[in-house]
Amino acid sequence: MFGLGFAAAVPAPICATMSSIRPWRDIERRKSRQIMVGAVPVGGDAPITVQTMTNTPTEDAAATIEQIRRCEDAGADIIRVSCPTAESTAALKEIVRAANVPIVADIHFHYKRALEAADAGAACLRINPGNIGSEERVREVIAAARANGCAIRIGVNAGSLEKDLLEKYGEPCPEALVESALDHIRVLEDHGFHNYKVAVKASDVFLAVAAYQQLADQVDCPLHLGVTEAGGLIGGTVKSSLGIGSLLWAGIGDTIRVSLSAEPEEEVRVGYEILKSLGIRSRGVRVVSCPSCARQGFDVIRTVEALEERLQHIKTPMSLSVLGCVVNGPGEARETDIGITGGGNGTHMVYLSGVTDHHVRDADMIDHIVKLVEAKAAELEAAEAQPTLTAAE
Ligand code: SF4
Repeated sequence: MFGLGFAAAVPAPICATMSSIRPWRDIERRKSRQIMVGAVPVGGDAPITVQTMTNTPTEDAAATIEQIRRCEDAGADIIRVSCPTAESTAALKEIVRAANVPIVADIHFHYKRALEAADAGAACLRINPGNIGSEERVREVIAAARANGCAIRIGVNAGSLEKDLLEKYGEPCPEALVESALDHIRVLEDHGFHNYKVAVKASDVFLAVAAYQQLADQVDCPLHLGVTEAGGLIGGTVKSSLGIGSLLWAGIGDTIRVSLSAEPEEEVRVGYEILKSLGIRSRGVRVVSCPSCARQGFDVIRTVEALEERLQHIKTPMSLSVLGCVVNGPGEARETDIGITGGGNGTHMVYLSGVTDHHVRDADMIDHIVKLVEAKAAELEAAEAQPTLTAAE
């Protein structure tokens, strides 16, 4: 029997501080073993990472690097690139060198691409070992991964399940996805290779969630979460939030990729929004804003749109409330670092650390809030950088 190991019975809380104060926020994280994807730990008590995938032709290294840069700026921890051709793996070396995050090479079937990608410096190969071919080829790919310090990500997908499993189960179902994953895992384990993580994705939310739930009970490796081919920006965000969100809420998942028919940096932003909503990770400005109504003292929708656009460069976690009037404005402002509440005659109240501070006029409001947020971010960063003084000092 191969050494899969089982999920531990005593999971660790994700957010101990918050949990100790508000037990209804508890998320008990499944205890997985940790692997390394380049310098980024995945699993165990490592932060849940956010991934995306480029969509430029990989052979075009310059375009791919430019896109990687945008994804890094959005906060991507790990980025995957497709390697379907020898030209793409030839470009990979330059891409890996330029990237500031680990690069995962996405390989389907072609064992030579896997060998080339490992040699080019990929931190991880996304390849299903059961689909590589002969035993000799499998051995070669695993040896190349081991020699180059590559992790492997097994990626089972309901849309490309093995024929024998489709015949056995009649259709893609959780049991079929899990059996496929276990078959691929067995190949790696039989070769003594343990630096792997697994995904069992489907475009159907119920199927994906059930497959991950079943797999989580049977293995202790890190799980890469995703609802595949989820759709466009709005539909895909909703599906991913339900699927990935409910799994994370149940403590399952060590790294996530939101799969959208949208630019990869949008996938990263949505990934962070899911993590932020569950209090798992925070990055940048968490905006609390109202939908607006006839009571609004300023155009809430346009203001939030403009602020979200102009505050993308802020990476320090902080909160901002933008409320159209005093009905809910003061209450939300009390809970956020900076708050603005619409008032009458084009003049609005600004709150700092939950306390009323000063007024601002309509025309100056957006520039003013941007400056306040930048100043608050600098203040928080300075406090973070400050060495902790000991009692003796
Ligand atoms: S906070 Fe005021 S403006 Fe915003 S939705 Fe509520 S009542 Fe309307």
